[in-house]
Amino acid sequence: MKNTKVKRDDISDYFEEQEFIANTYVMRCYSVTVVVLTITFILNQLRIFVIEQGLMLRGFVSTIIIYFITVLVYKYVLPRSRMLKYFILFGFMALLTINGVLITYHVVLVSLFPFLFATLYASKRVMRYIYVLMVISTVIVVYGGYYFGLCDANMTLLTSGSLQQYVKDGEFTLTQVNPNPEVSLMLFFVIPRCLIYFAFVFVCNSIYSIVSGSIEKARLSKELEKAKIEAENANLAKTQFLARVSHEIRTPINAIIGMNEMILRESTQDEVLKYAGDVENSSVLLLNLINELLDSTKIESGKMELVPVRYEMGSLLNDIYNMTEVKAREKKLELIFDVAPDIPNECIGDDKRIRQVLLNLLSNAVKYTRQGTVTLVVTCRTIGEEATLHFAVKDTGIGIRKEDIDRIYDEFKRFDVHKNRNVEGTGLGMNIARQFLQLMGSDLQIESEYEKGSVFSFDLVQKVANQEPIGDFRERIHLASGKNKYKTVFTAPDAKVLVVDDYEMNLKVFKGLLKPSQIQVHEATGGKECLGMLRKERYDIVFLDHMMPEMDGIDTLKAIRDEGLCEGVPIIMLTANAILGIKKNT
Ligand code: ADP
Repeated sequence: MKNTKVKRDDISDYFEEQEFIANTYVMRCYSVTVVVLTITFILNQLRIFVIEQGLMLRGFVSTIIIYFITVLVYKYVLPRSRMLKYFILFGFMALLTINGVLITYHVVLVSLFPFLFATLYASKRVMRYIYVLMVISTVIVVYGGYYFGLCDANMTLLTSGSLQQYVKDGEFTLTQVNPNPEVSLMLFFVIPRCLIYFAFVFVCNSIYSIVSGSIEKARLSKELEKAKIEAENANLAKTQFLARVSHEIRTPINAIIGMNEMILRESTQDEVLKYAGDVENSSVLLLNLINELLDSTKIESGKMELVPVRYEMGSLLNDIYNMTEVKAREKKLELIFDVAPDIPNECIGDDKRIRQVLLNLLSNAVKYTRQGTVTLVVTCRTIGEEATLHFAVKDTGIGIRKEDIDRIYDEFKRFDVHKNRNVEGTGLGMNIARQFLQLMGSDLQIESEYEKGSVFSFDLVQKVANQEPIGDFRERIHLASGKNKYKTVFTAPDAKVLVVDDYEMNLKVFKGLLKPSQIQVHEATGGKECLGMLRKERYDIVFLDHMMPEMDGIDTLKAIRDEGLCEGVPIIMLTANAILGIKKNT
């Protein structure tokens, strides 16, 4: 997974830069080439009339052969040692020079190839050496050619002074009238040609950069694509692992909470009730922790979806009040719900997520307040088809430092760890709350003064299902506060319920919790047993576990439907799985 660290931005920056450099090179090269070629063009026009064709061809062919042999040796035989590389290059240049001196200086023109060779196969440093060697060998070839009498029309013209003095019956008749032939050769032969080589190097280099750049770009995009697929697969594996683990953990926790609930309901011993209360607190804490972890993975993998339903604002706030009030009372904090009476009582939205956000903010407010009050203010700004509700959770707690406010959404981040070491938490709650709000088109506002208190607020637009206002919320709280102790509300000795679960502890909890209602609870530990029982008897309701060995809940439900076993009977599927993707896959 080494390559996965490549960032897309870095790559495009890199290529933009490379392309820019390459384009600048090309422009510069073209300019130099055009100037140099214009200067040399006039002289070359004269040269073509008198060129020794056979000599030129021999020079050309022998240079090409030298070139190819060197490339082959360089590339396939001795590519490793740097010394050997240089040695081969020097040898190559020496051969070209000798070739040029022996045949004609035109060979030097053909030896533009070394630059191509250097550009394609060698490093920039090697290319610089070749350039120097080319200049030296050009000087040697031109002057060597001149002194050995192997010069052509241009050279003769430059060194002797006029064309008339050069050709006489096809014979070389050199009449020296130019007082400085070496300077002429340098100015009109060596320097222009060297400039051409120089320009040629840049052109080749630019073309090479562009071509190799696009090849590299294609390779990196391919690697990125591969890394993306790998990361997605890893993420999927993580999600599936979490789904499985969540099922494994939530099942026993639910059993513990259920069994403990029976102790709380049935025991009359104060000591036992106290222990059971502690078990309940710890199990709920553990369940919340695993739920938070799951929520954050769901959000991360984009699997969190809103489920809008019709809900009662009154009962939502009631539940939240009752859940927060116990903790506030334990800490001797005053809990105030200041709910404006004109709020519409029935709305359409995802009440589960709103409940989670409010519970999170309120439980934080209680957790991080040592004395004073925790207040929830709910007001409504506009009412029509849609109501804009404003929620604010205020506390007189420890507050948050200004510099920490922006980091509050960082996952697993907790502040004042030393001070808060006895306060339980994962550092995930705020992040989850904010993501839920963003999913609902809102965002969280935070105002806080260190050691004075904080205000967490947000606006939420909800569809109004019924214009009837909520009225005096304090009356509702009054009604609800008496509900803390469990009471049997009804009995139904004739009702028959079938519960299907492979985990025996769940069956025990189910039976135990329904005992006071006197409902007849029949049990099955698998899909096949369930089908057998349904064929014999009619039940008023069936509870079906999702994850079971052999025949799982979905297969059992399908079989029930196929056989028409439960016409008009509600079937409720139970699952400890929390990941949406898992449901879709199954
Ligand atoms: P935790 O599970 O630690 O409470 P949260 O994500 O809910 O995680 O909050 C992150 C951190 O923000 C907390 O650890 C705490 O330091 C700070 N914080 C959150 N709410 C409050 C508050 N009402 N007052 C003071 N600090 C708070």
